[in-house]
Amino acid sequence: MRARLVSTLPTSPESPSRDSVAPGRLPPESGIVPVRSARPTRLEVNADALAHNLRVLSRLTRVPVLGVVKADGYGHGASFAARTLEQAGVSGLCVALLEEAMELRAAGVSVPVLVMGGYYGSAWSELLEERLTPIVYDAAHVEGLADAARQRGVGRVPVHLKVDTGMTRLGVFPHEIARIARSFRRHPEVRLEGVMTHLAAADTEDEASVHEQLAVFDSVVRDLTALGFGRPFRHAANSAAALRFESARLDGVRPGLALFGVHPCSQSRADLRPVLRLVTHVVAMKALGKGRAVGYGATWRAPRESRIATIPLGYADGLCRSLSNRGQVLVRGRRAPIVGAISMDLATVDVTGIEGAAVGDEVVVIGAQRGSAGAGAITVDEVAAMRGTIPWEVCTGISRRVPRILTETTP
Ligand SMILES: *Cc1c(COP(=O)(O)O)cnc(C)c1O
Repeated sequence: MRARLVSTLPTSPESPSRDSVAPGRLPPESGIVPVRSARPTRLEVNADALAHNLRVLSRLTRVPVLGVVKADGYGHGASFAARTLEQAGVSGLCVALLEEAMELRAAGVSVPVLVMGGYYGSAWSELLEERLTPIVYDAAHVEGLADAARQRGVGRVPVHLKVDTGMTRLGVFPHEIARIARSFRRHPEVRLEGVMTHLAAADTEDEASVHEQLAVFDSVVRDLTALGFGRPFRHAANSAAALRFESARLDGVRPGLALFGVHPCSQSRADLRPVLRLVTHVVAMKALGKGRAVGYGATWRAPRESRIATIPLGYADGLCRSLSNRGQVLVRGRRAPIVGAISMDLATVDVTGIEGAAVGDEVVVIGAQRGSAGAGAITVDEVAAMRGTIPWEVCTGISRRVPRILTETTP
């Protein structure tokens, strides 16, 4: 008889290893699945921190906050982010894609949801059915919506018009306003509820360009009012602009990154709390003689007798391969260097200097940790700088393979 491969995966949720992790207490509708993976790698997301950051932004800007939760809530889990923000009193939410918006509605989110991308295919009736607020910048958008509204016999569909004031990506240019205004007039089924623009350099030293874009936006809004469109709801500010420029706050702000507790620019001094923590456990320890090699390509050799810890996450989880022989993690509260090439599913860490480091120890890849050897934190910013990228890419690059786990208090 042939040997049979029998699955040994546990079928019951793994017991939480930290008090702050309570997968058993997750509301089923939170969008976060209890841990059923045998692997100890997980992304902890903190609802209290997210709600705190919303309060900070609301107090600071004193205008309605339209929280941006595109790209799976900046990697934190879209329905977790949306539901937490809704419960904390957010005025509305913004996503890039129609399918992202539908995911929020399916999760029971009922605040207004703005779909910012503007590519709707022919899914006009889905937009209406789910009561989504499309961003439009093309006469074809207005026509498609108007037709669908007429067919379904629904009243005036609220939309927001996107104006391109200098980003040169999406939106109508100021000189095209009269044309799109005519299309709104021809289609009374569609109502111009809001006007928006996007700032190209709010997180840089180039303050002049921010003020230029806002001046162009202001004149477009005045033109629209003169053309008989009343006083639409105006919004322009991403996180950096919301934090830095009072004049950019207008009638509402659209922060994303800052809600997740990451500073969007060096000028930010707001009291933001990180929402995510990327953690795993040591799964193997190796004692290594001087000169022995570690990992693919033998890119690291022990300069002395060393202890190497293997951790079960790799570039397929979002631990970017460019951190090989450069990045650091926290073990027992102390920093330990990533040594050797990061593999698809595994990475190796030199814990020679960390007394007592052992299999089962928690390893923090992003976030804070306190332990027998000290206390410290590795921020999204730090990882981004080391990778030569921006914090947005680090957050959104944590792959779906890593389970998102809800935590309630800052560890
Ligand atoms: C992503 C996005 C935002 C949020 O940007 P942050 O810098 O993350 O605050 C706001 N507006 C638009 C149009 C966006 O695409």
